[in-house]
Amino acid sequence: MKVAKFGGSSLADADQFRKVRDIITSDPERRLIVVSAPGRRGADDTKVTDLLIACAEARLAGASAEEELRAVVARYAEIARGVGLADDLVDGIAEDLRGRLAAPADDRGRFLDTMKAAGEDNCAKLMAACLSAAGAEARYVSPRDAGLVVSDEFGNARVLPESYERLSHLADAAGITVFPGFFGYSPEGVVVTFPRGGADITGAVLAAAVKADVYENFTDVDAVLVADPEIVPNARPLAELTYREMRELSYAGFGVFHEEALEPVFHAGVPVHIKNTNNPSAPGTRIVVDRDSALDRVAGIASDAGFCSIYVSKYMMNREVGFGRRLLQIIEDEGLSYEHTPSGIDNISVIVREKQFDAETETMIVGRIREQLDVDDVSVERGLALVMIVGECMRHVVGIAARACGAFARAGISIEMINQGSTEVSMMFGVKADENAAAVRALYREFFENDD
Ligand code: ASP
Repeated sequence: MKVAKFGGSSLADADQFRKVRDIITSDPERRLIVVSAPGRRGADDTKVTDLLIACAEARLAGASAEEELRAVVARYAEIARGVGLADDLVDGIAEDLRGRLAAPADDRGRFLDTMKAAGEDNCAKLMAACLSAAGAEARYVSPRDAGLVVSDEFGNARVLPESYERLSHLADAAGITVFPGFFGYSPEGVVVTFPRGGADITGAVLAAAVKADVYENFTDVDAVLVADPEIVPNARPLAELTYREMRELSYAGFGVFHEEALEPVFHAGVPVHIKNTNNPSAPGTRIVVDRDSALDRVAGIASDAGFCSIYVSKYMMNREVGFGRRLLQIIEDEGLSYEHTPSGIDNISVIVREKQFDAETETMIVGRIREQLDVDDVSVERGLALVMIVGECMRHVVGIAARACGAFARAGISIEMINQGSTEVSMMFGVKADENAAAVRALYREFFENDD
């Protein structure tokens, strides 16, 4: 059995709906389908989820939200008519939206989630109808009835462990089941959504729950590329990568697949196959537990800007029991999560994301480090990018660091930090954010062009 998830761009209009319908019906193993809300039809368009947020915001601001609501209904009406479905389906969607809009709005997060979830919920109903109209045996299922139970953190739901057992019955359902992505129900029965882009998470949870043979993730690219095409035009496609490689790449900015979506399928050992709705015969990219044949080369290069480093030095730091704990305690007390902690004998840097480290937080943290840890020096460096080369080969191929450093040197890029330490599949370099693109290109030349 295959679980197939279709992203927003795959469902943006009637043409896309037809492509998805044909992909589903072309393979009898595609029996559990997860859909996003209709996405953008072009560069200037708006996703249905964003239209729904605008609708909710209008109501929260005390306005009627009628215009915003009509914009959402129009998107569904265009699809329904385009695939030849009856208007009463659209009336049902309009009624559903009005019902949600009339829900109590005193709890902002709860109200927003109820509205946001309408995007995928109605899309799933429409897709089930579209499949049925084509003669397939298809039905919509509600995450509540199916048993997707999540924590009550609005906009940031986590799947509760009992969901897997509860959802496993979907493996035995007859015909095609269409399941809306992006949201579940709290134990109290309240709609709660995952973070944005979270329909991938739903698909992964279902694939793990029904022990699918493969989790197909249909999007709008032929394959995952070895580097960001905005930085490296014509970057080559990646046919296969392991979970660990994908995790490292998505950490540092690979946006193809939601980061959190890997965990359930990874633990269940279900391979992921990323495919293109607009070109379904392209081979796509497979994410596998283990690679059969050893790949003796770097799998990919990723990078992300927006980091900063809190550098701390203290003579004889290595002899001071508990120094690291006390330092990280300060970071924790201020509500920050840290990313890396490269360290030396008498110094340590704590790397954090800049977006959670404003000037006020900086003053507070630096002050506390100075006072409470009696350090010789503490300073903050902003504007860092982390550039990573990723590959299982790192465990056994000699000389990768030398090649990467040589590539940086030839491109005149100064390395602010190197972190390879505990991970076996990646090597990370801190560079100034304005040298990020040049650093990625230098690595691409070294590991992908010079290797050919
Ligand atoms: N529709 C949601 C979003 O735009 C979830 C998703 O598409 O994965 O974030």
